Amino acid sequence: MELNEISGIGPKMIEHLNSINIYNMDDLVRDYPYRFDVLAKRSIADKRYFDNFVSDGVVYSIPVVSFFKGKMNRLTFRCNIQNKLVKVIIFNRAFLKNNITPGKVITIIGKYNPKTETLTASNIILKALKTKEIIPVYHLCKGVTSKQLRGFINEGLKHYDVKNNVPDELIKKYDFINEEDALKIVHNPLDEKTLKVALKTLKYEELFTYMLRVRMLKKKNEEHNKSFIKNIDDKKVNDFIKSLPFELTKDQEKVTYEMIDDLKSDTKMNRLLQGDVGSGKTVVSFILAYACYTAGYQTAMMAPTEVLAKQHYKNALDLFKNTDLKVSLLTGKMKQKEKKEIYNELKENKIDLLIGTHALISDGTYFNNLGLVITDEQHRFGVNQRLKLKNKAVSPDVLMMSATPIPRTYALTIYGDTDVSSIKSMPKGRKKVITYVKKTDEVKDVLQGVYAALKNNNQAYVISPMIEENESADYTNVNDLKHKFELAFKNYKVGMLHGKMDDEEKEKVMQEFKEGKINILISTTVIEVGVDVSNATVMVIFDADRFGLSQLHQLRGRVGRNDLQSYCYLVSDKDTKRLKIMEEENDGYKISESDFKLRGQGDLFGSRQSGALTFKLSDVRRDYDLLVKVRDDVNEYMKNKDFSV
Ligand code: ADP
Ligand code: MG
Repeated sequence: MELNEISGIGPKMIEHLNSINIYNMDDLVRDYPYRFDVLAKRSIADKRYFDNFVSDGVVYSIPVVSFFKGKMNRLTFRCNIQNKLVKVIIFNRAFLKNNITPGKVITIIGKYNPKTETLTASNIILKALKTKEIIPVYHLCKGVTSKQLRGFINEGLKHYDVKNNVPDELIKKYDFINEEDALKIVHNPLDEKTLKVALKTLKYEELFTYMLRVRMLKKKNEEHNKSFIKNIDDKKVNDFIKSLPFELTKDQEKVTYEMIDDLKSDTKMNRLLQGDVGSGKTVVSFILAYACYTAGYQTAMMAPTEVLAKQHYKNALDLFKNTDLKVSLLTGKMKQKEKKEIYNELKENKIDLLIGTHALISDGTYFNNLGLVITDEQHRFGVNQRLKLKNKAVSPDVLMMSATPIPRTYALTIYGDTDVSSIKSMPKGRKKVITYVKKTDEVKDVLQGVYAALKNNNQAYVISPMIEENESADYTNVNDLKHKFELAFKNYKVGMLHGKMDDEEKEKVMQEFKEGKINILISTTVIEVGVDVSNATVMVIFDADRFGLSQLHQLRGRVGRNDLQSYCYLVSDKDTKRLKIMEEENDGYKISESDFKLRGQGDLFGSRQSGALTFKLSDVRRDYDLLVKVRDDVNEYMKNKDFSV
């Protein structure tokens, strides 16, 4: 059935309907009300002023119509409402005159002024009010009234065959109702209880249909996305795992084997590894690199900053020191000669794991046999950069790693065709970082906290948003703080790190901090991502209000990396309500969700890849739990069905 087959819909009406996004029958019957007004009778005896008065009454006098300003009109009559004679005015409804006759029972909705005993109606319904009535409210446009639209929808529901994707067993399982009935109820609700069930049914159906599509797409991709089967030497991998300086957590172990299975299969791995800061993602990725190596493949690992790339490199050197796996580092700042050497070694398959920054995707890099691409803190990279790295091999497996800033909802929707593995538990013995929000005049408490840590031979980070004063006098800056801390902590060494220093200097400072030669490191957010110095137990962040909560969580994640109690001080006089969330919450996922709610999508994604997914009924944030349920149901359903796509 087509829209124009409904009586009352001609070419002009089609245009109107198009302007409210109704193009076909399905759009029409699923043009859901954006609101439901529950009409319940108000008592006029209250003598209250009402913005939203609702009552029925009996028409007392014949309406009088007066015209003004050319086209405008006003209809006035008296009405007996709850035994009180009230003057009713309604604008531009002259056409109602013949329907409003003395003795007739009508329902009036509008503003009531008890002083003048006047009711200025916004709507008049030509029948008595039931004890309670639910009125669906639609988005309308010029040329379409609510009554017309509902007429079309109900007419459409009579003839149009509603497509339903949800299988019967799920409808039964969740006590949903038939979808067609659900649509009828939503457009003609009788009571709140059935309306609720109807909305639940439709919302589930909406998400189910979406997820089904995503999964089918994924299946199709898989068919086109064969990769080479990697003959991984399990024994060697297990020995390597045993040789690690610590035991893997349950979650680390689980995701590791999950991904090793991916590597072994002929389907290309496309996986996002999520885990809060400090949950130990790096070592998992190294195990995978090692697994690839045992099968004769190379791995490329891309980090967003030089500091981080170097840290990974050093870690890798250490972890792989008793193996034959060859690790190299490639960063943009390296000399041309050094780079050339690496390019050559790569081509000759002398490098098994290449760690680096963007330089990894420069035109000179050619891998001999690239099998796995890892991007750390993957949300920092643009989509294009990731693609470019992927294209360095015919069909490498892909592992993306990220700490919090990808809200869970996005992982499911944008990454709907990506597998997601999560590390939820922290390594043994980790304690929650105790966090305090402090005003600038309480800075003494902060210094005491720092002092306590230093006395215990631990170290402290101090973060400021600015490098020098001339950038903005309103904020602290690292130069200034360095002097202040040097004065306050005369017997300790204070170091400084910021983006304008050259790499060698940065490297030197980081190294000294790692070795404990620097006790207090004053820094800008260059240390934000991934830096790992486990002896540091205090994090002080000045002008904390300047940062997003997720960013603060990332910064805070630099401490609490051992079994000692760590502390975080957020110093600011502004925005303390938001900052206080950090005192309570230690879960990066939850923090990123509140950040997301508070600041909107903001800077969560470097390249705005989200493509703003919108549903008619569902809200991916609010309905997250439902979305998870739906995803699992869809997976189960697809397993039992042989789909041809
Ligand atoms: P992130 O997930 O934030 O990237 P890292 O990989 O940097 O975290 O790990 C944080 C710290 O925890 C590192 O010092 C790492 O060596 C250590 N670590 C990782 N896994 C474990 C474990 N199972 N037991 C103890 N320490 C671990
Ligand atoms: Mg990391």
